[in-house]
Amino acid sequence: MVRGLDGEEGEGELFPYLSAFSVGPTPLGPRQCAFAWEFTLSPADCQRFPQYLGTPVGQRPSRIVRDGSQIYRLRCVRVSPSTTAVSPSAWSVADAVWPSLAYIFVNGAELSVRRKLYFGKDLPLEITRHLRPGTNTVTLHLIRNATESKDQFYAAAVEVLDITSFTRAIKLASVLPTAQCRERIRQRLHPTPRDDDDDDDVSIVSEELTVSLVDPFTARIFDRPVRGQRCAHQECFDHETWIRTRAAKSDRQALKDDWKCPICGRDARPQNLVIDSFLCEVRNTLVAANRLDGARAIQVKADGSWVLKEEAATPQHTAGGPDVSRGPPKRKSISSDDRPSSSTQRPKIEHVRSQTRTTGDVRSSSAEVISLD
Ligand SMILES: [Zn+2]
Repeated sequence: MVRGLDGEEGEGELFPYLSAFSVGPTPLGPRQCAFAWEFTLSPADCQRFPQYLGTPVGQRPSRIVRDGSQIYRLRCVRVSPSTTAVSPSAWSVADAVWPSLAYIFVNGAELSVRRKLYFGKDLPLEITRHLRPGTNTVTLHLIRNATESKDQFYAAAVEVLDITSFTRAIKLASVLPTAQCRERIRQRLHPTPRDDDDDDDVSIVSEELTVSLVDPFTARIFDRPVRGQRCAHQECFDHETWIRTRAAKSDRQALKDDWKCPICGRDARPQNLVIDSFLCEVRNTLVAANRLDGARAIQVKADGSWVLKEEAATPQHTAGGPDVSRGPPKRKSISSDDRPSSSTQRPKIEHVRSQTRTTGDVRSSSAEVISLD
């Protein structure tokens, strides 16, 4: 259950996200069977542990998690045999997969992993309650089956999960200045189509980029457009909506921290979000022109000039394509009310410079999650 100090549902929600590593992602290779990792924790680090409650007989232990808490987890993921390093971003979106036979000790205590419990997926192993100030030791012993000796390899890491309030999660995003946003668009539109290709579609795409303005969760135009730093697409989603959909829910499962971009599946953790200043300006321009209602997409040229796309049809995602398989809730159908009511020809809206809003009015909260581990 998630509950605020005042008992109001929705207030005081907490948001877990991968913030650091005590042991960075380490490929385990094909042969080595025994691994031992050490890391040091300060007393201040340990102050941030959740508060573990007494465990009634036959029940899982409970813990109290607050804004500012940190949780430590051991996790394995599957990697290709050629992998020599795993970036934090790639790691953050990889599913937990435990080797078929693994023995894990944390400071001498043997821990068992939980497999296929969360929608058929393995769960990370929380190790926080076995840690202490000073040096900590995590050991992993593998016994590989035939496949695991040949082409099914793993990497392991000890992760630090930060638990944060909504307000702090919002503040972690950075701003991508308008000039960089424009340069990004220019690069998307160039190089120009191949000379030997006279396909009309190709030439149209190269001159203008259609960018959806619709947040995939709310089916409305975003308030503050963000995407992940590594996202290749121009499309954004709404900052506050995105964060809110990631609220911790403790339902007999470990804290979940799924921050895969709703459009492309890449890393969209709160600290890796960028606010697209260009699209902020687009929104402000539409507000000033009273054209926000029904705005679904814009067409942008390489010089950054843009027009509202008049057609209210379903917008097309570009760049890598949307990942509908893991996507957010389905878009609501677009009602006729969403369309501009006037049938007269509308003037083009030209780009104007305007103030970029970087932070919103967000609620400050302090809360506890009582979670079954
Ligand atoms: Zn993305």
